[in-house]
Amino acid sequence: MLYIDGIWKESESKESFDVINPATGKVVDTVAKGSRKEAQSAIDAAQNAFPLWVKLTAKERYIYLKKAADILRGRVDSLAELITKEMGKPVAEAKGEIGLAIDYLDWYAEEGKRIYGDTIPASSPTKRLMVIHQPVGVIGAITPWNFPIAMITRKLAPALAAGCTVVLKPSEESPLSAMEVVKALHEAGIPNGVVNLVHGDAKEIGDALMESPVIKKITFTGSTAVGKELVRKSANTMKKVSMELGGHAPFIVFEDADLDKAVEGAIASKFRNAGQTCVCTNRIFVQKSISEEFAHRLKTQMEQLVVGNGLEEGVNIGPLINECAIEKTESHVIDAVSKGAKVIYGGSKTEGEAFSKGHFFNPTVLLHATNDMKIAYEETFGPVAPIFEFETEEEVIEKANDTIYGLASYIFTQNGARMFRVSEALDYGIVGVNDAMPTVAQAPFGGVKESGIGREGGKYGIEDYLETKFISFDFK
Ligand code: ADP
Repeated sequence: MLYIDGIWKESESKESFDVINPATGKVVDTVAKGSRKEAQSAIDAAQNAFPLWVKLTAKERYIYLKKAADILRGRVDSLAELITKEMGKPVAEAKGEIGLAIDYLDWYAEEGKRIYGDTIPASSPTKRLMVIHQPVGVIGAITPWNFPIAMITRKLAPALAAGCTVVLKPSEESPLSAMEVVKALHEAGIPNGVVNLVHGDAKEIGDALMESPVIKKITFTGSTAVGKELVRKSANTMKKVSMELGGHAPFIVFEDADLDKAVEGAIASKFRNAGQTCVCTNRIFVQKSISEEFAHRLKTQMEQLVVGNGLEEGVNIGPLINECAIEKTESHVIDAVSKGAKVIYGGSKTEGEAFSKGHFFNPTVLLHATNDMKIAYEETFGPVAPIFEFETEEEVIEKANDTIYGLASYIFTQNGARMFRVSEALDYGIVGVNDAMPTVAQAPFGGVKESGIGREGGKYGIEDYLETKFISFDFK
């Protein structure tokens, strides 16, 4: 259903679309497909709600966000199952995502109280200079399917805490989880029009948001190609933009690393969500002296990974989102093998009756990966771990930075000086030092280069929803 001006509704056209379970091919539910007209109604509702929402105190807005967080906290089990049915990740991972999604609501509920300004020493004794921060206005939020609720609260929580109102267009692959977040806000009593939800054709709804002069900012998480398109379109009305785009994370293992920890980290960072996150490792660089040992230990640990329907107990690797994702993953393996890579584990689609209706790919390790392979520069978004060898620190820094992307990176070493040297030299927005899971609500998340613009999370994340106003008083 669509949610416009506080009311749940079907689309006027009566059109709808199916949500397919990627593990079974079965229809999970059918969702109303909104049109440009409904997107416009949502924008109007958000515009009308803005003057009231902006006037509330931070503490009043805190109460709504906190309540929504509490409602979600009470629904973790059912919500996790829904996420798994809708986009495939194993239930345990879905629960982890819900925890993170709630953290954003909790954290920004509080952070809204700390939108401080400044006073600045004046150049004249009769003047006083003041800086205040005000919400940018109505926000358009476009979100992906891979974290179908955390990517929403990561945007909505700071936007609402700052005093902005929102039109949300979630991914057409995961509209049901999005509805659950909006339901929690609705049940928390958020005033009509403050949050609006429109499902529908990505370009049609996207264009309505991009062309509207009412929308003052677009916050987007998704592919670099679509992000670039949105930045181009934002120019016409000079919108602010926040872009969380693709990544191509290097995972660097030095010979002085704790190897068991590095292997555990590589598995967490590469195979979480079946490799479908923008911070997933895409290239594992291992120092030559330990590469065989690392590959051997990685393969041994991977033998424990279980592929299957994420609803089943013990499954670690769920399906990929759709057939396109399988084709891309497979093409990266075929291309790498044709250029000299050796498959030491996995390497193909998962066979068998239980997997025939879903989009399953075996977790894979490739040895002897080289720079000319697609996997070295295109984002795979699938469960394939290519191992590249390197000799020196300088060499690996250069190789790790040799990409258009700059989101997450990981280094494993026990040498303190190297931790500083390498993390400062990497052209990435995030560096995990012996830490494969750095994302938390209170820290900045975002990339450099073609991985995006702006930061989400922490005190940095709310700045993107605020304008800075300078007020100069002269009482001469
Ligand atoms: P992914 O490959 O992760 O689905 P996309 O960038 O295609 O990444 O999608 C991320 C979000 O962007 C989804 O909500 C999708 O519907 C939306 N989207 C895709 N194309 C457009 C577009 N042309 N305009 C606006 N939004 C779009």
